[in-house]
Amino acid sequence: MNLFDLLLGNQRSFLERSIFTTIELGIRYFIFAGSAWVLGYWLFRNRWFHRKIIARFPMSSDVRREMGYSLLTLVIFGLIGAGTIAASRAGCTQMYWKISEYGGGWFFGSIVCAIFFHDAYFYWTHRLMHHRLLFPVFHRVHHLSTNPSPWASYSFAPAEAVVEAGIFPVITLIMPIHPLAFGLVMLWQITFNVAGHTGFEFHPKWLMNTPLRFILNTPTNHVMHHEKMRGNYGLYFNIWDRLMGTNHPDYESRFREVTSRPVPTTKH
Ligand SMILES: [Zn+2]
Ligand SMILES: [Zn+2]
Repeated sequence: MNLFDLLLGNQRSFLERSIFTTIELGIRYFIFAGSAWVLGYWLFRNRWFHRKIIARFPMSSDVRREMGYSLLTLVIFGLIGAGTIAASRAGCTQMYWKISEYGGGWFFGSIVCAIFFHDAYFYWTHRLMHHRLLFPVFHRVHHLSTNPSPWASYSFAPAEAVVEAGIFPVITLIMPIHPLAFGLVMLWQITFNVAGHTGFEFHPKWLMNTPLRFILNTPTNHVMHHEKMRGNYGLYFNIWDRLMGTNHPDYESRFREVTSRPVPTTKH
């Protein structure tokens, strides 16, 4: 068995494959959210505090709840991931296994397409889950974090975890994609997702003075979504929020306020 087969768990039963996928996703989540936690909430807690969008740290009871729901989410992601791989192995999706089938150009093209598609998928499912009839079952748990920590990144109710995991089968049904390309999209996803929930604004102040502000999303944008409950529904890009007029009216001024705070001088 080569490494690729091992990572995809190709020779395993559905149960073993689900457990293996859950562990893989768990390790990835622990590395990304854990690094953000160690850096922002421990090592550079004071040095970076002037960039903390909400100028206090979440309570430990909130962090424990986020970790608990994240574990449940990982199991659901593992089940849906393993199911999608099994369906793909059976030829039910457009997933392909040899890069040469579509060439290197499409390998990278599919990553870009999948990122833009995921951004749209996230925006519209997110807005749908804010509907008053769907919110309690799908999205209330995620919004229990009004001052999120990195562990809020996967803090979802089971129903929302199913919606979020749905991007995997949906992408494999609508476009030919290699599992490694999808894996790279998911690395992009976890980076943005954790950065958005860590609660620190790391973009430079000048971002809001350039056309980049129409495209790139920022941690300030998503933290405000948790704080205000309304507006700022986007994930990677600010394009849909701009098009649909759903940016919070204070978004740009809040970004400027956070990025203009004085850097504390070092104590001797
Ligand atoms: Zn929301
Ligand atoms: Zn969030």
